[in-house]
Amino acid sequence: MKRLLVTLGILIVVIGPCKGQEKAKMNDGIFPMGEKGPSQFFTGNAYPYGLVQVDSVYTTLAGNVYFESGARSNWHTHPSGQILIVIDGVGYHQIEGQAKETIRKGDVVKCPPNIRHWHGASKNEGMSHIYIIPNTEKGIVEWMEPVSDEQYNH
Ligand code: MN
Repeated sequence: MKRLLVTLGILIVVIGPCKGQEKAKMNDGIFPMGEKGPSQFFTGNAYPYGLVQVDSVYTTLAGNVYFESGARSNWHTHPSGQILIVIDGVGYHQIEGQAKETIRKGDVVKCPPNIRHWHGASKNEGMSHIYIIPNTEKGIVEWMEPVSDEQYNH
């Protein structure tokens, strides 16, 4: 009995904190959630998390963003374009002047250079996407105004 209790105790110590951490910090079960993105660039709760930084070898930037339902980026452009890879959930992506597109886990989206667009979660479900920004020597992002509720719901 004593041995069983000791074994159980060890199991709880080993399993307990890991599960807790997972719930607190993970959203899609792959990457940590990161800090909440600033409200000057995002509407609602979005959590960018950098994965690849620019250095002396690589001029490509990559990371993950988890958007809670209803959250989205402001309108913005990327001087060298951007690639999005949806890894979880359901979201929206819109290039200005085109219809809003629904994007789902597994979808790959290219945002051409200097084209105004936004991306975020769908109304009722969160979304995680990886972003890849190549050729950052041309610039990374130019932030613009928020996506209004009318634009988001259109
Ligand atoms: Mn973008």
